[in-house]
Parts: sequence; C-alpha cells; structure tokens
Amino acid sequence: MTKKQFQAESKRLLEMMINSIYTHREIFLRELISNASDAIDKIYYKTLTDDSLTFHKEDYYVKIKPNKETRTLTISDTGIGMTAEELENNLGIIAKSGSLAFKKENQAQDGHNIIGQFGVGFYAAFMVADEVTVITRALGSDQAYKWHSEGADGYTIEPTDKETVGTDIILSIKENTEDDQYDEYLDEYRLRNIVKKYSDFIRYPIKMDVTSSRPAEKAEDAAEDAQPEYVEYTEEQTINSMIPIWRKNKSELTDEDYNNFYQEKRYGFDKPLKHLHISADGAVVYNAILFIPENTPFDYYTKEYEKGLELYSNGVLIMDKCGDLLPDYFSFVKGMVDSEDLSLNISRELLQHDRQLKLIAKNIKNKIKSQLQSMIKDERDSYEKFYQSFGRQLKFGVYNDYGMHKDDLQDLIMFYSSKEKKLVTLAEYVSRMPEEQKYIYYAAGDSIERIEKLPQTEMVADKGYEIMYLTDDIDEFAIKIISAYKEKEFKSVSSGDLGIEPDEKDEAAEAEQNESQELFTAMKDVLGGKVKDVRASKRLKSHPVCLTSEGELSIEMEKILQMMPN
Ligand code: ADP
Ligand code: MG
Repeated sequence: MTKKQFQAESKRLLEMMINSIYTHREIFLRELISNASDAIDKIYYKTLTDDSLTFHKEDYYVKIKPNKETRTLTISDTGIGMTAEELENNLGIIAKSGSLAFKKENQAQDGHNIIGQFGVGFYAAFMVADEVTVITRALGSDQAYKWHSEGADGYTIEPTDKETVGTDIILSIKENTEDDQYDEYLDEYRLRNIVKKYSDFIRYPIKMDVTSSRPAEKAEDAAEDAQPEYVEYTEEQTINSMIPIWRKNKSELTDEDYNNFYQEKRYGFDKPLKHLHISADGAVVYNAILFIPENTPFDYYTKEYEKGLELYSNGVLIMDKCGDLLPDYFSFVKGMVDSEDLSLNISRELLQHDRQLKLIAKNIKNKIKSQLQSMIKDERDSYEKFYQSFGRQLKFGVYNDYGMHKDDLQDLIMFYSSKEKKLVTLAEYVSRMPEEQKYIYYAAGDSIERIEKLPQTEMVADKGYEIMYLTDDIDEFAIKIISAYKEKEFKSVSSGDLGIEPDEKDEAAEAEQNESQELFTAMKDVLGGKVKDVRASKRLKSHPVCLTSEGELSIEMEKILQMMPN
C-alpha cells in the first residue's frame, strides 16, 4: 500500500491548522460532531428525494467513546458515510468541503442545517491526536474503507469491513507533555462538558456510556446506621439537549423555562427581571434570547466586567462573549444570539465580515430600548428595580462618546422629583410643566435630604415648579450633555439667573443692593478670593444666605472636578 502525500499546499496548511488556527484545542470535538451531524443531515435530505429510503429518527445519532486503555477517542455516526473517492477528495485535499458541494447541489432544499463549508474542521483532530483513523461505509455501498494518517506526511486508504453505514473517527490521543495535557480528552466528565458547551443544540442525539455509582442495596444483617456501599454501573446517556429553547415557539414557553435557561447558562445567580425572545426574519435572520438581570453583578462597575452575548451559528457555539453585539450602555444584558447569516472564517472564532453582525447588534439595541421603554409604562416597579441596579450605566451612556447615544437613552433615565417624591422621567417632568415655566429645574447634592434643605431650591419650589434632584455624581454631567429635552433647557437652581419672572421681591432686592453696597464690598474683602461677588438675593425666603454659581459649572460639578485626579 503506497502512502499518498497531501497536496503541497495542504501540507503547509495542515501544519498551520494544527498549530495556530484555533484558539482552543477542545473545539476539535465540536468540529467532528458538526461533521457527524452534517453526515446525518445528508442522509435525511436523501430520504426526502428518494422514495426507496425512509428516515427513522431513532436510527440516527452520534456516539462518543473514550477508552483510557487504548488511549483512543472514537466519534461514530450513522450518517451518509464516504466512498473511497469521497475519502480521497474530502480528507485528502485540505480546504475542500464535501459539505459545501452538497449544499450547492441540493440548493433547492429548504431548511438547510449543514454546518460545514471550509473543509478544514476535520484536521482540528490533529491538535489532540497524533494518529487519526477513519472507518467509513457510504450509503448504498457494501464496501467500507479505512483512511489513516499520522499528520502532515500523508495518508493511506484501504478497504476494510464495517457492518453498518456511517463513519467512525478514531483518534489516538497524544501523550501528556510537560506543557500540555491531553488526558482530559479521555475523561467522560470533561468530554461531556465540551459537548454541552459547543454542541448542546446539535439536532441529533450525542450519546456516551456514562459510568456512575449508586448506593448498593443494604445487606439483610447490616447494622442500622451502616454506611451504604456504592456500586458502579454504566448506562448510555444522551448528553445534548438537542432542541434549543430559542427555536421553540414562544407560546410553548413559560417564564420558568426562561428562568431555567438563565440559570443553566449561568448568566447570573439572580432571577432575571425580564426576558426578550426575538425571532427576526427581516434583513438579517436570527434568533435571540436576552435577559435583563435584576441585580448588579458584583464586578459590574469594575474593569473586570466583560460585556457580551453568546454567539451561535446554526446551533453551534462560536463565541462565549461577543462584545460587538451590545453597546456599552446595555452591557448588563445577558443572553445569546443564533444566526445562520454570519460569514465565519475558517477558525469560526473570527467573523469574516461584520456587516451582518452590525445589523444584528443594531436590531438588538433597538429591541432592548423599546423593551425598557414599555417597562417604564407598564411595569413601573420592575423598571425602578432595574434602574436601581443599572441606571448609573445608562447615565454614563448618555455622557460617554460625546453624547452620541443621548437620543437612545434620554427617555430611559430618571431622577427623583421634588413633587412626586419618586423617580420620574424627563418626559413626565415636561408633561407637567406649567405653560410659563421656561426651564427644567434641577438641584444637585449628596442626598435627597440634603438637597431638600438647600436654600437655593426655595424660590423655584415656591413658584410651584418641580425640581429634579441629582444625587449621583454622573447626573449633572449627563444633564449637561442632553442640554435640552423637548426644547426645554435644564437649569440648576443654584445658577445666577433662574429665568423666573420678576415680582415685587425683585425691586426690594434692587433697593437692598444699592443701600448695602458698602457692606457687600466689605464682606467680599473679608472672604478674600473665595467668592466672586456678594449680592442681595431675589430668591431667599427663610434662609439668610446661599451660594450660587454664574458660569457653566454648578457648585456640585466643581466639587466633583476638584476631587478628580489631574
Ligand atoms: P467542512 O465540514 O467545513 O466541509 P471538514 O474538514 O470538517 O470541512 O470536513 C471535510 C469534508 O469531509 C466534509 O465536507 C465531508 O464531506 C467529509 N466528512 C467529514 N467528516 C465526515 C463524516 N463523519 N461523515 C461523512 N463525511 C464526512
Ligand atoms: Mg466540518
């Protein structure tokens, strides 16, 4: 039997593959399972067009068999198999995808789920194996073939026996080295986790013989308090859940289903406050399940926190945390997106063109926004809970990027209202403004209690105008960026000109100003450079004196800026 060489380009490509294309070695299993699933899909499509064939769902599955003694891991499928020629073409020429060709030939078929397209996934096996054997028998053929390769220097193909149609991929797992561990790929528990992580939603069962232990029956004469003995037993289990929740019909799902999914996925330890199930069918097709958590994750307002959604392509996990899918101001959102429309590159970990991804991200942003808006209207308590946890992030969102996102966010932020004694939105404030009121008034301070005692609020409150209390250090910066809401500008109660119509008090103050000019000058001198001016006030009622500001910055902002490191 002569050994055939991989084509020259293929040889170099194979070395590259093994050493650098994939970031995680464990994905070899995802690739082999995806191929197995594709092979079963192909049989399925054949049965749709060939009346002599029938498809019994229970006959189709993938089986994973680790064997620590022989140090092999076998991935078997009952799929379409390969002829000698197909073996040669599909596994002898790297970057040639039989699955892509199949998809093209069968384009008329609806509901394509075939994953393969690059013709390199198979070789990921060499990241963990120093020898790979493929035993395969094609549908409609009595002869089976064995393909064998020890990596870059070539492969052999010879006839062999196999009773049933399908393919076994046998990996001889590498020995551990000082730097690299391979034993884990023979470990049931670890394999199960890898399957769960990447291939949970493959549509066919992925089975494995799992060894567990259970308490043995107590012997008749055993002492009452004797510890039970444990016996080991092995049973075949299906590891994957097969049908992803996001492909199910919304009407079939309960809140509990979504909560369970949230917990299973470990998106958070709390219960989600709200879920969003999106099945988009427009310019870009995708499914998504998104969650708004109730509580702030402990690391949320730190640099360690990483935003992102899980990204699936056709049910196969591509990325754990795709940050590009969420704007920073919605970084609290958890969940996943599945789309067939993504152009993946050969490593699948990198997206080739991000046009579709951008479309999805934009779409998702709008959905989250309108979800939050409808919560303000219909589920006020929930929204306030949410706002306690993440309102600060929204306000940062208004301020960041030079206010680029303020239009998206200004209807989502709330401040405490002097009138309502609770959080209100800007829209609510403006809707209550008397006709003659020119500005949206606000007062900044450390707490509601302290703001209430500010002499500066007196005149505005006296007029019967509502005041927004800004107690968070980001608040005033956000307000400045918004600058006006529905054409009403914001005005701090401590600014020099409040824009309130003058009344009798004004004249009195004017007279006072003239009469006491000498006293004021003397006071200013005593205070040195600490104040710019001392004047008779038009706004005080029960307090003798207050501080006001004239420039762009309010007193509170000046305080914050002074605290910042230069
Ligand atoms: P891709 O899946 O992107 O096409 P792979 O390198 O993973 O590339 O596989 C190359 C080709 O080998 C597949 O397109 C398919 O034709 C064939 N193949 C791989 N594994 C199997 C299998 N288990 N059963 C049948 N054909 C397979
Ligand atoms: Mg593949």
